[in-house]
Amino acid sequence: MAIDTPIDTDFEAVIGLEVHAQLLTKSKMFCSCSTDYAYAAPNTHVCPVCMGMPGVLPVINQQAVVYTIMTALALNCSIPEYSKFDRKNYPYPDLMKGYQISQYDIPLSRNGYLTIEHEGQTRRIGIHRVHLEEDTARLLHHDGYSLVDINRSGTPLMEIVSEPDIRSPGEARLYMQRLREILVYLGVSSGRMEEGSLRCDANISVRPRGQEKLGVKTEIKNMNSFRSVERALEYEKQRQITLVRSGKPIHQETRGWVETRGITVSQRSKEQAHDYRYFPEPDLPPLVISRAWVEELRTELPELPDARRIRYKAEYGLAEQEANVLTEDKALGDYFEQVMAASQVSDRRARAKATSNWLLSEVVRLLNANDISIQDCTLSPSALANLLDLLDKERITGKQAKEVLDEAFTSGEMPQVIVAKRGIKPPISDLGVLERIVEEVIANNSKAAHDYRAGKTNALQALVGQVMRQTRGQAKADIVQTLLKEKLSEIPPE
Ligand SMILES: [Zn+2]
Repeated sequence: MAIDTPIDTDFEAVIGLEVHAQLLTKSKMFCSCSTDYAYAAPNTHVCPVCMGMPGVLPVINQQAVVYTIMTALALNCSIPEYSKFDRKNYPYPDLMKGYQISQYDIPLSRNGYLTIEHEGQTRRIGIHRVHLEEDTARLLHHDGYSLVDINRSGTPLMEIVSEPDIRSPGEARLYMQRLREILVYLGVSSGRMEEGSLRCDANISVRPRGQEKLGVKTEIKNMNSFRSVERALEYEKQRQITLVRSGKPIHQETRGWVETRGITVSQRSKEQAHDYRYFPEPDLPPLVISRAWVEELRTELPELPDARRIRYKAEYGLAEQEANVLTEDKALGDYFEQVMAASQVSDRRARAKATSNWLLSEVVRLLNANDISIQDCTLSPSALANLLDLLDKERITGKQAKEVLDEAFTSGEMPQVIVAKRGIKPPISDLGVLERIVEEVIANNSKAAHDYRAGKTNALQALVGQVMRQTRGQAKADIVQTLLKEKLSEIPPE
């Protein structure tokens, strides 16, 4: 008997993401301990509050509330007039108090969305809620025993929960990337997934395309890069489809992503799930959020990545791809704008195009080769603007500009100083002089000239090289090439 089994493309994934971001506040969520513990010795950034001693009282960090509301507004959420904190009870060695202060039924925000562009489609991913809680301590596992480092305990943690609107692992990755951009632009999170300051858990189920009813979902943990989010979901989607196709049940459970093996493994079943016994935190007052304050925060929001992308295209005439690359990394976009601010030119669009070209090719190449970030780069934006000025005025050739850039990148000197110091002469712009050199080179390299005319187009490069040598790099390669072609075509057939 033939069984009507749908093929894989007949299934779609239903994915929702829970993202945790540590907030960049100076102190912890409910005490005055510093959050700057990244390189500190274990248990040095602690006090009775974050160690969970009895009888202590928490105090709400206002900056953490501000950061959460800013994020919620950037994600188009609505902010209630009243919010509160709740206790989430569960026993675990890294949870100092035996409960976590979190938010249950009245979070700081609800009902927002984030727009992504995926495979030519604009998709709106709903944001279920953005709320505030505290991070746990950290366990360090050794052979046969574990140690606890309480430095992280009580660090402000913002949770952003999406609606299950994501339909593929690729969309999930893009959602994460866009969300990270927004958090970094707002200055509320470092966005560093590899350091654990931005973490992601995912819920995923599959169903035949066109079916309303949701399949049984699993939760995936331990994904610490954009790539692993996509890979883990791809693996889990296939695993679930295979089970459905073979008529086996999917168990509702928590699964961990094992990066080295490229698989998810079962960690905890639904039956073992905790009852958190949430109740309002009795040691904290409820939050009353005035409309005036929310509106004040809204007007203070910085320009967000989507708005910047649109502006780069409209104001500078940049192409989609360039605008995307320049805005994905906020620091790179900031640098681009600083170069533009240092550029006193009449044709702003031409300068923007040149800045984008040099920044994304040569400067990024030097950054990668030296393994440094644009923020730590010694080449100042005004130095790059100066280099582009020299090129505009035809004071140097493109080839010379690359050499000057290499030196400026290392020394931090202004390109005009380097040009003077090296005694670089202005390019030969006198066509008469160039023509004579070109004719001379053709006469002295008859084999290459013959080869080129016989159809070996590669031979032209040898001739260009000769002219550049004769002019010590002071000629413009494109003009030399044009002149060579002209002169070669003027020679009568042999
Ligand atoms: Zn503390």
